[in-house]
Amino acid sequence: AVAPTVPGNSDASRDVASYLHPYTNHATHEQTGPHIITGGDGIYVTDDAGHKLIEGMAGLWCTSLGFSEKRLVDAATKQLNILPYYHTFASKSTNPAIDLAEKLLEIVPVPMSKVFFANSGSEATDSAVKMVWYYHNAIGQPEKKKIISRKKGYHGVTVAAASMTGLPGNHKLFDLPIDRILHTETPHYWRDALPGEEEEDFATRLAEQLEDLIQAEGPETVGAFIAEPIMGAGGVIVPPRTYFEKIQEVLKRYDILFIADEVICGFGRTGRMFASETFRLKPDMITVAKQLSSAYLPISALFINEAIYQAVKKGSDEVGTFGHGFTYSGHPVAAAVALETLKIYEDDGIIEHVRSVMSPFQKRLKDLNKFEHVGETRGHGLIGAFELVSDKCAKTPFDPYGAAGKAVAAKCLEHGVILRALGDTVAFCPPLIITEDQIHTMFDAVEAALTEWH
Ligand code: PLP
Repeated sequence: AVAPTVPGNSDASRDVASYLHPYTNHATHEQTGPHIITGGDGIYVTDDAGHKLIEGMAGLWCTSLGFSEKRLVDAATKQLNILPYYHTFASKSTNPAIDLAEKLLEIVPVPMSKVFFANSGSEATDSAVKMVWYYHNAIGQPEKKKIISRKKGYHGVTVAAASMTGLPGNHKLFDLPIDRILHTETPHYWRDALPGEEEEDFATRLAEQLEDLIQAEGPETVGAFIAEPIMGAGGVIVPPRTYFEKIQEVLKRYDILFIADEVICGFGRTGRMFASETFRLKPDMITVAKQLSSAYLPISALFINEAIYQAVKKGSDEVGTFGHGFTYSGHPVAAAVALETLKIYEDDGIIEHVRSVMSPFQKRLKDLNKFEHVGETRGHGLIGAFELVSDKCAKTPFDPYGAAGKAVAAKCLEHGVILRALGDTVAFCPPLIITEDQIHTMFDAVEAALTEWH
């Protein structure tokens, strides 16, 4: 074994000795130690070596208002002083939870009836799975339980959510996916279109593949389809033209519920409050998290439409209660922070701001195509990515896959920008408050990193 390079009796060695990190290669971690972040200011974070870094990923696609929004600190402090905790089981309620649910229903762009609160994206999508099953039981269709998600989709890590996630690393050593969860094709036009196939024809082919899967399984057994409007962790994959239009027609034909997972896209990321508006989606349920509270406190939500609510009501009557919920569902401090976040989006015109900076952002992203090993750039609004290839014309991936992405992200870090490698795709998802000047600073650094790397 290689001797550890982490110095003894340091924060780094204490980390290695005691902390099991999420999504971390622990064999490597023992050698390299952690990257310790100690402070934040606007779109910047500082680390324990004193570097000031642009957080080009808003943490994990979440700190929409950056790292020093005083109004959120004040909202949390105020609520902590009034009532730091109360639950919402068995008809108990709190004002922040009521206010937040009401506000969310006011801004959601498709008809929704109620909001259920949880603490993470995974809990929200897992709750959506249970809701699909509950709904079909309550309305007397107990066989309609299969859920279709997509290869490369990301819906979280709890057992059902990880099953819907369509990435091998989330399945292989965990004995997942569970039964009743199926995966259809990824809508990645650049990577997967047939030679000469037009974008709209590719979308038609994917909708047909979905329909074939439904037919093969038996439409009476398929309960729901879940999709992110733009796939995030699977590589920032923007839907091809007409894709969702055609997918939604198929779902309608077979009476299959549509769940839009807006955990990344919700709250302005695509230049509208919800990506369901951007891509004209008509979901029956929507999951949100992350930018709901600018990640200052953990909170997520599941919107359900009126038909699903009526089933919950009927089912509650039948068994005496709706048997689902978390100790922290609608946590008053998290809810107060989320409500203040939504107020800031309005007061500060955050969506308008995103619309004003998304063109320069997308233009600078597109410019990265000039690099020899950038095979594709893709994005929408303030989310984007570039995919690295060893041969641009043949779109040949680097071998081993993922090493180039890691190396480029590491180079970007040396140049003062935190980005995220997703295999050989490198993602951007900066705080929504990023200014045009900061966008240029970020891309100048990324271009310097790419120039140095190869
Ligand atoms: N859904 C989507 C689309 C996500 O991107 C994520 C996390 O990145 C999740 C669900 C899971 O959220 P969490 O990590 O908060 O459980």
